[in-house]
Amino acid sequence: MPHKPGRSASPLAGLAPEDILTRMTLDEKIGQLHMVSADAVITGPSGPPGGLRDLDQGRIGSVLNVWGDAAAGLQRKAVEQTRLGLPLLFCLDVVHGFRTVFPIPLAEAASFSDGIWRETAAAAAREAAEAGVALTFAPMADVSRDPRWGRICEGGGEDPLVNARMAQAKIAGFQGDDLRDEARLAATVKHFAAYGAGVGGREYDSADVSDYAMAADYLPPFRAAVAAGVAALMPAFLDIAGAPMTANRALLTDVLRKTWGFGGVTITDYNAVAELIAHGAAEDGLAAATLAFNAGNDVDMVSGLYHRHLAEAAALGLVALADIDAAALRVLRLKQALGLFENPWRVCPPATPVQVASRREAARRAARESLTLLRDPQGALPLPRQLARLAVIGALATSAADMRGAWAETGDVEAIVTIADGVRAAWPQADVAVCGDDPQEAAAAARAAGVAILCLGETAAMSGEAAARANPVLPDGQQALLDAVLATGARVIVLLACGRPLVAPQLFVADCAVLVIWGLGSEAGRAIADVLSGDASPSGRLPVSWPRAIGQIPVFYARRPTGRPHEAGARYSNGYADLPIAPQFPFGHGLGYATFSWSDLQVSAMDRAGATSPLTISLAVRHETGAGGWPQDGRTAAIETVFLFARVRVPGRTRPLLLLRDFTRVALRPGETRRVSFEVSRDWLTREGLAPAPAAVSFLEIIVAASAEPEVDPARCLRRVLVAQKGAEH
Ligand code: BGC
Repeated sequence: MPHKPGRSASPLAGLAPEDILTRMTLDEKIGQLHMVSADAVITGPSGPPGGLRDLDQGRIGSVLNVWGDAAAGLQRKAVEQTRLGLPLLFCLDVVHGFRTVFPIPLAEAASFSDGIWRETAAAAAREAAEAGVALTFAPMADVSRDPRWGRICEGGGEDPLVNARMAQAKIAGFQGDDLRDEARLAATVKHFAAYGAGVGGREYDSADVSDYAMAADYLPPFRAAVAAGVAALMPAFLDIAGAPMTANRALLTDVLRKTWGFGGVTITDYNAVAELIAHGAAEDGLAAATLAFNAGNDVDMVSGLYHRHLAEAAALGLVALADIDAAALRVLRLKQALGLFENPWRVCPPATPVQVASRREAARRAARESLTLLRDPQGALPLPRQLARLAVIGALATSAADMRGAWAETGDVEAIVTIADGVRAAWPQADVAVCGDDPQEAAAAARAAGVAILCLGETAAMSGEAAARANPVLPDGQQALLDAVLATGARVIVLLACGRPLVAPQLFVADCAVLVIWGLGSEAGRAIADVLSGDASPSGRLPVSWPRAIGQIPVFYARRPTGRPHEAGARYSNGYADLPIAPQFPFGHGLGYATFSWSDLQVSAMDRAGATSPLTISLAVRHETGAGGWPQDGRTAAIETVFLFARVRVPGRTRPLLLLRDFTRVALRPGETRRVSFEVSRDWLTREGLAPAPAAVSFLEIIVAASAEPEVDPARCLRRVLVAQKGAEH
């Protein structure tokens, strides 16, 4: 490897971080808290102030957006040409892939698979580590209930438990058991906290979040990430109740460090220290640096204000030298954990062809299991293998770049399998007509083929950072395309690309199947063909409620009961006069080709004496045979997802109508039955982990169901009341 020139370790190798700290000047310590972007050092004198000179003086600790030879060159300077030889930390947003692109996180959330979450993070980590990246700014663990927010695509959707589980699996995948492993990355959980709650779904905005919502909804995924040993944490850009998160000592120090015991590194978001001035929270650079540092931010990402003002703040007694030591020590410890002192050119050896193939296979599996079938009123899917003609319509059908989704700019576009390529490969004998967005041309192709795969939805650039949409609807021109294709009478399958639920009621009354393809990544085309052809049954489930109208936003299943529940026709009841209160599709919704039936709910004997023993809740899940003739080979397994919800009452409080407590998946062949089980703590039965303190429940019903609207599918819903009054278990 050109950028692993077999050079020596740092002169500091073998020393404990505490020892290293004692050898450092104040400027060098502050240097460890200074993160610059690659162009600040690489462009040299013409770049932003400091540049190479700061690097030479050991006054830069980490660099973002750099890898490969450029990173190696910087590391050489840091290790060989600075006074102490402190190695740099190279950071990048490896959100859902580096060169190989995995599905966007919201898509992967739809797989409800801890295994997939972990596997794709591990594969992405390895690929980025092959280029010398050491830390990723991922996972995002922000619960979001607002499809207007562009970054809903980066997280696990609306539910705290799903975000917590996903963050934990991602951290395990990125970090592995030992960060010294060159195939791993340090992970950064972000954006602490409640970044998904921004007013109006806007980026960089503010939110008023109650203590209750913080504790019940927004903090649990971060707490889970800390429990999973995440290396770093990034506060959000927004202000909460008048306190910018970058200056929020109550959360960054009192909750994160003191209550949760987080010992890792905190890294501000991009330029967020300087933005405290625009927030109105700080008068000038000195005040901003002081505020951010004292709130609990170790590393300043690119604003340069620590670099410029922290020594002055210390001289003025505004910040404590001991706190600078503590922050620098945390950075040194992270570098040590990554093995950077012994191995500054920390580059994972290039993947073997077998490893490359398995990475692609992981991308295909994750993509396939993220696909979410919202509806298929005519039973159009799966498509027969022996089709003679097919029309593939829409600009997205041939766009490789858009299959990447947001936050995958480093992704290898050349290696992406487009929808059109995937369909052609799956139907090699068919005449596949591919056409763009012209309605007349599209209609002609659909009419001639009789089967139309219509690719609608968002381009990659329509979601992600700073991509809030006040109208998260089908982009311009797509309605005309849809109308034209539907009017032909062809069998229509809409593939809906999106980084968020799109409000598109017209799609959900038309004669068409709708398969959500999100931003599916490098293997998009193949994964889509796997499902269209019936090689696999779609198994994705919505990790977000899908709104009927923009006015329903924020939309989520865990609504709290009202004194006047909605009843059809009732004048003074909760709900809308012009729309049902239920979303278009509930959390958990997703169709497949198989039929499942559930039975025999059992709750392990509740021995009152053994009050600490866990409780097992189990049920039998059967893949029924014969439904709809799928699978053609009679053998292919289909995946079923089982959600365990709780309905709880707590005296004096109002608790959500349903709360997700666990979920699991099972793959079953036709005719196969298996027991699925959940283990829950005894405490879970009788106490609710509510803010500000756990409280005894007076009622607890468990509901195993296929979605957050259990009554819709009675064959896949079982329930049992376990507690019906204080202290009494049934
Ligand atoms: C984003 C972060 C990201 C950072 C570095 C910011 O604008 O909010 O999520 O990690 O940039 O790229």
